Amino acid sequence: MGVTLVRTLGEKVKGRECGACSVCCSALLVEFPKYEKPAGERCKHQLEGGGCGFYKKRPEDCSYFQCIWLTLEQMPNYTRPDICGVMFRYDLDDETWNPFAKSCVVAVPSASQDALFSDAAKACYRMFWGGGKAVWVQIEGRRRFLIDENGTEILADRIAEYEGKLR
Ligand code: SF4
Ligand code: SF4
Repeated sequence: MGVTLVRTLGEKVKGRECGACSVCCSALLVEFPKYEKPAGERCKHQLEGGGCGFYKKRPEDCSYFQCIWLTLEQMPNYTRPDICGVMFRYDLDDETWNPFAKSCVVAVPSASQDALFSDAAKACYRMFWGGGKAVWVQIEGRRRFLIDENGTEILADRIAEYEGKLR
């Protein structure tokens, strides 16, 4: 199973644009209206320096997707995914038994996983957990594990502590 693209609700923050960023174009699965590429692989249409060389005819998956940075004013400009090294996206799963996965945030490192431990990334984790959203990490195209406000994996013995943080 690949990564579900979930459109971030809401309008773009005024004046906020993708600019030189094209992290989502590498990080995410593009499969609608037809399969184009797997998650975690650079798209053949990505331009050097950002942007899409196929923009006018880009797949619906691409035109619908917005990362959280684009629509959430509380995320500072320096947390743009290509700058801070982590892209945040929403994920929804109404059918899962797992309360951490029903409506969550997924942190996707754009290159090195070291970026997951930067101060900028940790500030984002604190903000999301504070708002009642569990934070996961996506590695190699898949949502893999939960992390706490410091980017540390939440193991089974700490799950109860974090369940209390979900609304
Ligand atoms: S990751 Fe966000 S800011 Fe970067 S190109 Fe995609 S939507 Fe734009
Ligand atoms: S088609 Fe364009 S918008 Fe879609 S993933 Fe490729 S480069 Fe990005």
